[in-house]
Amino acid sequence: MSPSTNAKNRGQSRLSGLLCFVLCIQASAAFSQSPWLSHDAALKSAQATLPEYLELVALPNDAIVPADIQKNTDWLDRAFAKRGFTTRQLANNGKPMLYAEWPKKVAGAKTVLFYMHLDGQPVVPSEWSQPDPWKPVVKRRSNTGTWEIIATDRLFAQPLDPDLRVYARSSSDDKGPIIMFLAAFDALKAAGLEPALNVKVLLDSEEEKGSPSIPAVVKANRELLRADGIVIHDGPRHASERPTLIFGNRGATRVTLTVFGPRAPLHSGHYGNYVPNPAIRLATLIASMKDDQGRVKVEGYYDRIKLSEAEKKILAETGDDEAAIRQRVGIAKAETVGGTLQEALQYPSLNVRGMAAASVGAKASNVIPERAIAEFDLRTTPEAPPTYLFGLMEAHVKKQGYHLIKGEPTDADRSTHDKIAQLTMGTGGRAVRTPLDSPLGQWAFGVLKATGRPDQNPVRIRMMGGSVPTDSLVEILDAPFVILPLVNGDNNQHTYDENMRIGHYVDGVRTIGTLLRESIR
Ligand SMILES: [Zn+2]
Repeated sequence: MSPSTNAKNRGQSRLSGLLCFVLCIQASAAFSQSPWLSHDAALKSAQATLPEYLELVALPNDAIVPADIQKNTDWLDRAFAKRGFTTRQLANNGKPMLYAEWPKKVAGAKTVLFYMHLDGQPVVPSEWSQPDPWKPVVKRRSNTGTWEIIATDRLFAQPLDPDLRVYARSSSDDKGPIIMFLAAFDALKAAGLEPALNVKVLLDSEEEKGSPSIPAVVKANRELLRADGIVIHDGPRHASERPTLIFGNRGATRVTLTVFGPRAPLHSGHYGNYVPNPAIRLATLIASMKDDQGRVKVEGYYDRIKLSEAEKKILAETGDDEAAIRQRVGIAKAETVGGTLQEALQYPSLNVRGMAAASVGAKASNVIPERAIAEFDLRTTPEAPPTYLFGLMEAHVKKQGYHLIKGEPTDADRSTHDKIAQLTMGTGGRAVRTPLDSPLGQWAFGVLKATGRPDQNPVRIRMMGGSVPTDSLVEILDAPFVILPLVNGDNNQHTYDENMRIGHYVDGVRTIGTLLRESIR
């Protein structure tokens, strides 16, 4: 049941998807009566794990320093083993990943691999409004709206103030979810409950570097990691702060287009009006690729994308404040590829990420340049993969009268063809997507629905616009996946003053504890 196979079957399963959508809503009422973790049980275990959490975020974890990664892996190895997990450090050039498995198997139950990462972004300590990003502090919002450091023991007071925040590197990204996961196991144990799933865990050690080692490590341990589904706890919730589920992400592929002009730059006075200018030709060529409304005009570009009415409804439910987004980015009007931002992200895109011809500014001179180059990034989807889109671009460029070559034009090329260009495709991340109505998707949605506010539907992101480094994990294990972010949207991940809201920490423990207690049908 690979994401790509599922994508192909999506058309056939549209009706059953609609049916499931209706049944899921009904099922969630019964869901909440299961013997699950209560909020109080989650709160108790969450609070009890906070000393461990503070200890873990005090360990520097930039993957540029292997010795630091080793310390984090060792620390987590002990924390998982202490709770009864079987653990193994997966070799990775001195920066081992941690594998943990719950030893008690549930006959007939599905196996879920939980993926999180133990490494973090680099820090610039001077940017932080605390003495040291590796020394966690607890903060509370003052009456004037600023964040002030308060005594750490406020985390252990009763009742626990959900609006307190812990500030430290990786407090949210991604050590918060790892300790939430451990706290969920503690809560189950305290309640005398066992997981209803077979549970595996992979903690990546280089996610913030783009997971360069994930393909090799996953391939070397494919059998160990094999699972029926993958749950990724990473990233923030949707800006609306509703519980969030992400079912896929677009891929990205680089394409370079070079339009050739004269053999060498020429004096624009001597040759202007006589020698064609490649910069102008490139501009014309690019302009032929998109219309004024932002829709790609390359023939067939969107043909494979079909969105059902039920899917469009879910996309519209996301609740993005698009007026605020347009104001924030500084545009009056959005392109019209989709009716909403979320809908637009379901289509492949054709973006110019850079252009160059001769020089600009002080270095500009009066020449007809010898070539003009445009760099593109194509955002791909499972239905419209890189080779497919690249083929369409090639056909489009040829249709505009261009002779396509590899490398530099030869004398023969120059003497026989008026318009000469080169189109090359680079590498990039792949698009992956799990159907919204897949068993894994329904299971995760049902849990979020049942543990969330009764008046709110969780946000379902069918496909994120950007790529994530976990695409190769999903691809190699050939398993459906969902991303289930647990931390606050305003956590400042990747920058200074990264923080985690304690209320989200408690909710995360309850969410994971409930996922563990609910079987996948
Ligand atoms: Zn992360």
